[in-house]
Amino acid sequence: MQRYSVEQAITEFIAATPLNAAAEIGLSAIYDRPLVGVAWAEDSLFASLQAEEVVGPRHLLPQDWLPAARSVVSYFLPFSRQVREANRQGKLPATEWLYARIEGELVNNALRKFLIEWFALAGYQAVAPGIDARHAVADRKSNWSERHVAFVAGLGTFSLNRSFITKAGAAGRLGSVIVTADLAATLREYRTYDEYCSKCNACIKRCPPQAIDTTGKNNDICAKFLDSMAERFKPRYGCGKCQTAVPCEAALPV
Ligand code: SF4
Ligand code: SF4
Repeated sequence: MQRYSVEQAITEFIAATPLNAAAEIGLSAIYDRPLVGVAWAEDSLFASLQAEEVVGPRHLLPQDWLPAARSVVSYFLPFSRQVREANRQGKLPATEWLYARIEGELVNNALRKFLIEWFALAGYQAVAPGIDARHAVADRKSNWSERHVAFVAGLGTFSLNRSFITKAGAAGRLGSVIVTADLAATLREYRTYDEYCSKCNACIKRCPPQAIDTTGKNNDICAKFLDSMAERFKPRYGCGKCQTAVPCEAALPV
């Protein structure tokens, strides 16, 4: 199977699905055109994610999810300009950002389901760990970290604020499917885990509860702030100030 046909299917799904909008707040698109990366299921980097200092031993291998796994398709769904621009303002998350965070994940889950069916129609098996019954999070660590998988699949690198920077920036959502189809792997155009972060420190000033400093992000402070946003904006929540009005918002930082 050609990698291009998978990219095309993902792009067309996002362009066509009515879920990718929120008419009640005048949001015409949650996501722009996706980026897609592919990793070989046998890539040794997957095993390295099980090291305690990376994700940990509970992180599963592609073959644990799907014994006949051959490839892992990872994608980045960049938030639209409308979502990003709204969140550049103020200290509280913009309504558009809250919708992009919650309704946007519904789009992501619909894409995961679509891809499982799309591969099945082409004669292949597919598993999307993000919506699989075996998916679990303990101590804030997932047994399938979409960011680490995206790193293996050539989509980008980590950053000072522990988000993930792609060629379309950091503001957006990630997802993946493990498949039995043989697809050409994407070249990783980086050598270190945080190569795409320029260390400009702009995100430090953007963080309302000051969870970021030059050594990285304090997860406890960030999580506490997100909890307070969940209380305030129920049933939605979010923040993303460190991903907007920064050089890595929608492109690689210069
Ligand atoms: S704002 Fe600057 S330091 Fe912060 S993640 Fe983006 S590139 Fe890195
Ligand atoms: S999501 Fe918000 S609270 Fe968390 S690090 Fe980014 S700016 Fe700070």
